Amino acid sequence: MIKENSKVILSVRGLTAEVDGTEILQGVNLEVKAGEIHAVMGRNGSGKSTFSKVLAGHPEYKVTGGEIIFKGENILETEPEERAIAGIFLAFQYPLEIPGVSNLDFLRVAYNSRLKNQGKEEIDVFDFEDLVHEKLDIVKMNPSFLERSLNEGFSGGEKKRNEILQMALLEPMLAILDETDSGLDIDALKIVADGVNQLASPDNAMILITHYQRMLTYIEPDFVHVMHAGRIIKSGGKELALELEKTGYDWIDQEMTAEVATR
Ligand code: ADP
Ligand code: MG
Repeated sequence: MIKENSKVILSVRGLTAEVDGTEILQGVNLEVKAGEIHAVMGRNGSGKSTFSKVLAGHPEYKVTGGEIIFKGENILETEPEERAIAGIFLAFQYPLEIPGVSNLDFLRVAYNSRLKNQGKEEIDVFDFEDLVHEKLDIVKMNPSFLERSLNEGFSGGEKKRNEILQMALLEPMLAILDETDSGLDIDALKIVADGVNQLASPDNAMILITHYQRMLTYIEPDFVHVMHAGRIIKSGGKELALELEKTGYDWIDQEMTAEVATR
């Protein structure tokens, strides 16, 4: 489906990046418009998490070429915090545990720092609690999780739901979910997918990074991309995910060998 006049939220061109001196991203191109859901699939080690971290501005990853344009501005030189405030949200494959910091406090600080940067007044503790309780419904989370240390002792599924809760509060313009489906049983997967679907709107966009087709039966992507060796080597509609489910990723090697042979 072509959505006319949609505005471009993210434009990645020729992006190369390295970590610890090893070049991982080898020229990624991707354009994401408002209202779109993109899935990035690929084998383990193909560079998916690296791509998500580079988008979020992780300091360990060094961009060596190309550009990342977010809402019309090159964000390569900006700090991760600035990107978050501008509306980029990354749900980590492995969410951090922070003992001693309550989940509620963490969420309030994150929420307030965004308000502050928008020139708005901070929300007080009581109003914030009301707001969080509204959002808890989206991920069907028990309020007791708010009082616990951030992610400490949370099960895999609870951590992932907590990431979606953060997203529900921060209402990012671009949400990148890195393997949010991994380690989830079917009930948790449905809750997470349902939350993502409730949060998707014509004004925002999502990049779902996933190894499996499973999540995409609950969240329907507009585009599916296959990453291999740090590049997007194939793009298509949602049917591409089903095709991958059937064929696995082995065809990539054949195609790559054929490509080299014809050079
Ligand atoms: P994916 O998320 O697709 O499984 P990653 O982006 O995590 O892939 O990893 C891509 C490649 O980068 C892998 O070969 C991985 O070993 C390598 N890599 C990731 N992080 C580092 C690091 N800190 N130092 C060296 N190599 C890394
Ligand atoms: Mg990964």
